[in-house]
Amino acid sequence: MTDSLSIPAPLPGGDWPEMQPGWVWLCGAGPGDPGLLTLHALNALRQADVIVYDALVQKDVLAWARPEAEAIYAGKRGGKPSAKQRDISLRLVDLAREGKRVLRLKGGDPFVFGRGGEEAQTLIQHGVNVRIIPGISAGIGGLAYAGIPVTHRDVNQSVTFVTGHDQSGNTPSSLNWRAIAEGAQVLVIYMGMKHAPQIAGALLEAGRPADEPVAVVSEATTAAQKVLETTLGTLVADLAASDLEPPAIICVGRSVLMRQVLDWQGLAAGQAPRNLDPLGRGRPAEAS
Ligand code: SAH
Repeated sequence: MTDSLSIPAPLPGGDWPEMQPGWVWLCGAGPGDPGLLTLHALNALRQADVIVYDALVQKDVLAWARPEAEAIYAGKRGGKPSAKQRDISLRLVDLAREGKRVLRLKGGDPFVFGRGGEEAQTLIQHGVNVRIIPGISAGIGGLAYAGIPVTHRDVNQSVTFVTGHDQSGNTPSSLNWRAIAEGAQVLVIYMGMKHAPQIAGALLEAGRPADEPVAVVSEATTAAQKVLETTLGTLVADLAASDLEPPAIICVGRSVLMRQVLDWQGLAAGQAPRNLDPLGRGRPAEAS
């Protein structure tokens, strides 16, 4: 029996770059759904000798690789994140020096809270040739799968992407949450689950209203996607009562309300829109 995925369909017409031995392509795999891979990512999967992938890369995505490609898991272990990161970066250097065509595959976008900048810098410092392939970041594409537009004309003219971990990987204390609370229209928080109580507390203390809408989207774009709609004041209790687990994106702001009309997955499953005008504009969306 032949696995249908191992028969490569041709890429659409175009001048696709060829992976050269000794190169590392640092590539985003998107948030989960393999359909959100870029064509450059697919082109890379078709050619790589070695694929070094993260915990957040879905197995379905790896199914697009050449069957003979070697897949190396480089997920983070707890404990010493910086030492581990050094090992991963140097492993990439070694593989490149062995003359392999190396695909470094990371969840979402490699340059968004993914240490892609550090890895690429190490490679370049060691004289290794690099190509960067952006991906769809969970904080944009993951929210879109939940029916939340990260910008909306009636809500925000800016978005603030925040990580819930500081450099030590432990606490969000090094961030100026007061400045973020005061300056951010819509907040998109990566890696915020562990410290959700501290983050919500800091935002409330800095004056964000307790009834401000919040959504938590876990395992976004996968079949296991779950969405919790709550408010800043009820986030902690609702999260504790829920079965949502990381990875999850937390979105704070009125754009969350748009899910009441834009939950396209719910609509596709036969649900009716909950509210056709959740922002209370009082006029059709197409009217400016
Ligand atoms: N480079 C990635 C982010 C890596 S940091 C990107 O651009 O998306 C890891 C964090 O990303 C997780 O803690 C979570 O907050 C978020 N994340 C990644 N994939 C996700 C997914 N499928 N669903 C929800 N959140 C996700």
